[in-house]
Amino acid sequence: MSQQQEFFGNVQLSEPEVVVPVLVPVAVAGAYSYKVPAGMNVRPGSIVRVPLGSREVIGAVWDGEPDTAVNPKKLKSILHVYDSAPIAEDLRKYIDWVAAWTLGAPGMVLRMVLRSEEALEPEALLSGVRYKEGQEPDRMTTARERVLEHVRNGLAWTRPGLAGAAGVSSSVIDGLKKQGVLEEAMLPATPPLPHPDPNLPGRKLTDLQQGAANQLCEAVGKGFKAFLIDGVTGSGKTEVYFEAVAEALKNNEQALVLIPEIALTSQFLERFEQRFGVRPAEWHSQVPPKRRARTWRGVANGEVKVVVGARSALFLPFHRLGLLVVDEEHDTAYKQDDRVPYNARDMAVVRGHISGFPVVLASATPSVESQVNAKLGRYTRIVLPERASGAEMPTIRGIDMRCDGPERGKWLAPAMVSEIQQTLSNGNQVLLFLNRRGYAPLTLCRTCGHRFHCENCSAWLVEHRFRGKLCCHHCGYSQPIPDKCPECSKPDSLVACGPGVERIAEDASALFPDARVLVLSSDLPGGTERINREMKLVESGEVDIVIGTQLVAKGHNFPLMTLVGVVDADLGLVNGDPRAAERTFQLLAQVTGRAGRIHGKGRGLLQTYNPEQPVIRALLSGNPEEFYAAEIESRESAGLPPFGRLAALIISGPDRVVTEKFAKAVAINSPSSEGVQILGPAEAAMAQVRGRYRFRLLAIAPRTVDLQGFLRKWLSTAPKPTGGIRVQVDVDPQSFM
Ligand code: ADP
Ligand code: ZN
Repeated sequence: MSQQQEFFGNVQLSEPEVVVPVLVPVAVAGAYSYKVPAGMNVRPGSIVRVPLGSREVIGAVWDGEPDTAVNPKKLKSILHVYDSAPIAEDLRKYIDWVAAWTLGAPGMVLRMVLRSEEALEPEALLSGVRYKEGQEPDRMTTARERVLEHVRNGLAWTRPGLAGAAGVSSSVIDGLKKQGVLEEAMLPATPPLPHPDPNLPGRKLTDLQQGAANQLCEAVGKGFKAFLIDGVTGSGKTEVYFEAVAEALKNNEQALVLIPEIALTSQFLERFEQRFGVRPAEWHSQVPPKRRARTWRGVANGEVKVVVGARSALFLPFHRLGLLVVDEEHDTAYKQDDRVPYNARDMAVVRGHISGFPVVLASATPSVESQVNAKLGRYTRIVLPERASGAEMPTIRGIDMRCDGPERGKWLAPAMVSEIQQTLSNGNQVLLFLNRRGYAPLTLCRTCGHRFHCENCSAWLVEHRFRGKLCCHHCGYSQPIPDKCPECSKPDSLVACGPGVERIAEDASALFPDARVLVLSSDLPGGTERINREMKLVESGEVDIVIGTQLVAKGHNFPLMTLVGVVDADLGLVNGDPRAAERTFQLLAQVTGRAGRIHGKGRGLLQTYNPEQPVIRALLSGNPEEFYAAEIESRESAGLPPFGRLAALIISGPDRVVTEKFAKAVAINSPSSEGVQILGPAEAAMAQVRGRYRFRLLAIAPRTVDLQGFLRKWLSTAPKPTGGIRVQVDVDPQSFM
């Protein structure tokens, strides 16, 4: 080392050292401390790369004071500050809030914001050429003339782009460059996005819709306010909140629309384009990484005005978000169960509250939580009781399977069959709904009684006849369907028990050989692309009978569909989940709501063994208010959400006995707290998943108790998990499996 370098080194060390807290993507409670090298500028929110153990990770400089307890000699330095704008203060606050609420690590919440490293640096420029003012070629040819026509306005072109546009070979361009007529220029890899135009004429709204739209528009730009649009299927909720999106755009703000199912995006994108002239940016797991990075950057710098996306879009770093819509707000897809378990519907309201903009929740079957929030005045409820097209709501009728069911081994009751017959002969479409994928949920041996179950999970293997496989729906394990019993070796002895959608399709094809039958289910090969294609076929009337799982219950408009038959209305009611009634009500009201949305009168038929069950009765009476009133009352008297609060601890491990013992020790160590009740440990309904044994503890607390505080105390005093045991906290669990 030279004298001079050493000298500078000493000077650097004698200057006061700046140390800042940096949030890194690991599951620890707070930020780590890092040194800021001389000459580097950072502030809270700056996105940085730092060493962490033997890795380098992306983190963000955070608020607060650095941890001074760390030996300064051990401190490492920030390696790099990314070009991207720092994370804004309100988003930092939001990250901390979500972490505190879910009992997750703030660094893991931050990781949901910093999804792609590619997005953090500016997009690489392309090299190209541009006209050099005042230069002319030594000799003009027609090819050169054509090139110059394109470049004289001063715009930059890529070499192949210009050659193509001018219809010349690239050697012509090279020649012009050599003579100095064209010079090197850099240009952006992607042209700037066209902006949605809020001033295009929307649909003519009905008076009710206009009143609703006005309420929303008045709230735009005026701080936080939460709305619940409770509007029947087909009432035009989308048209109404589009007006609020337009208002935000006029206000020079961005808007985010969350939808629960990415298979629905294509219809949504088309409707958006009809209203605003261009498509919004999409954000979900199937958007390719390059496009995702571009959207992230555009959201951060304000170039991208409207995003439609899955729940993860909630964590995008908007430059100036002015409106957040959660469509189909009751949908369970908004709950993330792994990593940081959060409910995007509730976290959307929090984001609006922290950043100060209106949030709109919309549904034909709102969650009980949102209905109660509306009753208590926390949300402004807007009711749209009629379909926009003037079509009436479908009439719902029950078929009592105890006396009017089909013969053994068949699944469609005679009354259902004759309704299908009539609908088809009128040239209309039928939807048969069964929320069960595959052919049969259970396969057994007629000779020895052997039942096929998954080796890793407590679940039967589901037969998928189209694919010729027995599959586990929990871990993805599959095996070919054997031709003899693995237990007693008897050939041709295996029988399928119970129906899945594939089996209903078989029945329907046998009963109506001339009908075009289509199974719509999320697990068939081809992904979203195939689903979109098939949805289009249904829309345009190229299918007569659709057999579908819950995928078809969501959001889609099928103009020719007039009959919806529910094959097993009792299916969702059999498990002991406290939300089973609500979920079944929502699912069946949504799916029967597909009937007759645009033209004519729709009908819904429910096959049930239990017509007196309150949920079924409420569906048959066509009076949702009755259902909500009864459900709210029973939740209130049982102290269940939203009147009480729930949190689950899911304790899993590779060994059953050890895991159970550990779960019991955790239960015994729960702190005493006024009014908090601990249930369990109980073996989870899914007692084994992917080879891990699972036990559940449930804390039930009155609303007045600080449940998160209670859980923090509990986890800090409980025994520490060892030997591969994991403890997962799920605040406000939606699934009880
Ligand atoms: P929802 O989201 O409430 O189910 P949508 O917004 O999807 O309802 O509207 C249902 C159907 O009615 C769509 O095909 C939509 O284009 C149509 N529609 C909604 N409002 C109007 C209107 N004011 N005039 C004409 N058609 C409308
Ligand atoms: Zn399995």
